[in-house]
Amino acid sequence: MLKVDDLNVYYGGIHALRGVTFEIDQGQIVTLVGSNGAGKTTTLRAISSLVKTKGSVKYNGEEITGLSSEKIVEKGIIHVPEGRRIFTALTVEENLLMGAYLRNDKDGINKDLEFVYKLFPRLKERVKQLGGTLSGGEQQMLAIGRAIMSAPKLLMLDEPSMGLAPIVIDEIFEAIKELNKSNGLTVLLVEQNANIALQLADIGYVIETGEIAFTGDAKDLLYDDRVRKAYLGED
Ligand code: ATP
Repeated sequence: MLKVDDLNVYYGGIHALRGVTFEIDQGQIVTLVGSNGAGKTTTLRAISSLVKTKGSVKYNGEEITGLSSEKIVEKGIIHVPEGRRIFTALTVEENLLMGAYLRNDKDGINKDLEFVYKLFPRLKERVKQLGGTLSGGEQQMLAIGRAIMSAPKLLMLDEPSMGLAPIVIDEIFEAIKELNKSNGLTVLLVEQNANIALQLADIGYVIETGEIAFTGDAKDLLYDDRVRKAYLGED
């Protein structure tokens, strides 16, 4: 579904991505794990065309490098950025409907709204509450809910666990699993928290200083000594 080949990104003199290459099959959950500053966010920004990039990104066989971010969203590649960025002065429901701004299938929109409320009952309890007054976990749920409202084909999540309590992280990761299982949604998950990301994903890629260091079945990587030492805090 997505083939990323030899991506290079420079921020001035900093060579942030160095030939990043990986692929995602339809229906998979793929995770990109790595420490602070490894290039995870930059990889998502490159796919979304938010940063100037050399290399190739193919989506269902079509070259999408160089397209505008809007065109990429229209194709169903939806990016939930780090830090959530919801509309703080809009209500929960208004935020969700903003996600559907490119759609005009009213029935489909209502169906997806019900689906989001079923997935995240906490949002349903807070439909009229302003986004800015939600807790961090609820804001993350809202950001994912808004992405669902845009009918994604590939959902890219940047550090959904960041700053959240373990119990809330579990709730959010259960929802991602459910989205993948019941809707067959393809997910690219970027995480510093390698443990939870590898438990959820099918395939893992480990990124270090802008390069893919190694890859494998996510469950195998969980038990890989290199991963355990570097990312799971073991000796
Ligand atoms: P984090 O988890 O901390 O967000 P990351 O793996 O997502 O880390 P990136 O944000 O992709 O890492 O950053 C990769 C490298 O590029 C880092 O060295 C970072 O300092 C640098 N970088 C990122 N954005 C910019 C920018 N706008 N200008 C200059 N350098 C940048």
